[in-house]
Amino acid sequence: MSADLLSTSPDEGCALLIGDKEKLISPNSTWKFCIRFIWPCCNIWSNQKINLNDWNNSFVEQVCKKGSKRNRFLLDPREQIYAQKWARQKNWEVLGTAHSHPHGESKPSDSDLDMVSSEGLMIIVNGAQSIRAWWLSNDPLTPPQELKYIISDQYIEN
Ligand SMILES: [Zn+2]
Repeated sequence: MSADLLSTSPDEGCALLIGDKEKLISPNSTWKFCIRFIWPCCNIWSNQKINLNDWNNSFVEQVCKKGSKRNRFLLDPREQIYAQKWARQKNWEVLGTAHSHPHGESKPSDSDLDMVSSEGLMIIVNGAQSIRAWWLSNDPLTPPQELKYIISDQYIEN
């Protein structure tokens, strides 16, 4: 996964994490995530107008004037819908996203936190291939929580 995410360096690379989760009763009622498939995505961050719906265009116009693909990523919402449909057919779900910080730390940046619209898993790999996993809340007052263990089992479709 880290090689794929860093293949777009110096730009950020991104992917969707697909799989399932189960609530563990002990020790602390935590979640166990099982990543079954990593869905590579194009980073569509642009300072130009993107052919998306009106809501997204106004969002992109407001936010995308800051930064570039070198320190930002944006997933195509159409690609997210395709991934969700595909995952549902397998009784899986989109657990979150993965992306690279070729020039930074493997922790969520301020812009990552600004862009969070729903809670979920976020894996970040940096240029030194340090991989860290985070749980992001959609409550802006709740800081990202680093996850200690990830069970990964990439599914290969025949
Ligand atoms: Zn980031």
